[in-house]
Amino acid sequence: MFNLTSKSTNPKPMNKVLLSEAIHESGVRLLESKAEVIVCSEPSEEAITDLISDVDALIIRTAGKVTREMIQKAGRLKVISRTGGGLNNVDIKAATDHKIVVCGVKGPQDRMVAEHTVSLMGALAKQFFYLNAQVRRGNFASRKEYRPAGLSGKRVGLIGLGRIGRLVADICARAFHMEVWAYDPYVTPETLDTEDVVLKEDMAEVIRTADFLSLHVPLTEKTRGLMGSAEFEMMKPGAFVINTSRGEVLQEAALVAALKSKKIAGAGLDVFEKEPPDATNPLFEMQNVIATPHSAALTKEVVAELARGSAENVINVLEGKPPSYSPNWDVVQAGVSPKAAGRHSA
Ligand code: NAD
Repeated sequence: MFNLTSKSTNPKPMNKVLLSEAIHESGVRLLESKAEVIVCSEPSEEAITDLISDVDALIIRTAGKVTREMIQKAGRLKVISRTGGGLNNVDIKAATDHKIVVCGVKGPQDRMVAEHTVSLMGALAKQFFYLNAQVRRGNFASRKEYRPAGLSGKRVGLIGLGRIGRLVADICARAFHMEVWAYDPYVTPETLDTEDVVLKEDMAEVIRTADFLSLHVPLTEKTRGLMGSAEFEMMKPGAFVINTSRGEVLQEAALVAALKSKKIAGAGLDVFEKEPPDATNPLFEMQNVIATPHSAALTKEVVAELARGSAENVINVLEGKPPSYSPNWDVVQAGVSPKAAGRHSA
């Protein structure tokens, strides 16, 4: 653990902001203009718990987890801010019970994740990784194995049609002339502002008929394990699955079985049940799996934007102003929440 000395000349006692791990310097600079910034030695529960009782705000990235037990020890914590939109690593109910605002940043990462998703789809269909290896080892005759598949005219099935799902739909339909079917029980034809998507009420119909099945749901108790052996069994033989949402949405053992039995042709994964995954994960022995390290959103520009966004959210909440995105701001405000407004300068 190390302490970053604040450069502010404000004489009032400063709020303390704990970073579970380093964030982009543009976010740190913003925080340092208003608060004292402390960085954990590692984003583990133990390391965060050691420091949580003495801070007003906590910023986490993907690895940091915030449990009820940790929140119970966080006597003066007013805000938990994540450098992204998925808040499944925070016990939001426990935070709400303790009148702590939980917030995230949505927006900058959406298009990058959509691009990553469609790139995985393209790399799988075109067999880039296999063919690249063949050319390098002199097997130019691999061209006659006729492995690449087309995207155009194929059906992409989307489970979840929110911010990222809609962008994926747009790219697939407009750039690759694919047919897009989607299942999202919270989207109605009236709220669907595109004619590119066929909205289905039955998830099984989407899973059964997709050539490329792509997951874009948040991790909730309903979506945990959503893709299991029954769902893989339903899939069209030779189809591909892509997961850039959250690892626990897909049961990896069931995916391994579906790939081994050649029920499906391949998978593109940016997220894993356990992150970081074990090197012995059987998925990594399979040539028809393309894996990336939860990096879909991590372009240099987006990382900086997310760090700034999470810092702005902290400053806003400590000043009693709403963050850009929060699932519990209204509820916390509705209760008597003297903690939500900063007692010191933000
Ligand atoms: P979003 O909230 O905008 O959209 C999610 C959609 O899923 C919503 O429309 C919701 O109605 C729908 N949904 C919820 N439960 C459902 C269910 N049971 N079945 C079908 N649909 C359901 O979220 P988003 O910003 O589009 O993010 C989508 C996913 O991508 C999330 O899991 C998020 O954490 C993840 N994500 C990953 C990365 C990455 O780096 N790989 C980056 C950003 C977001």
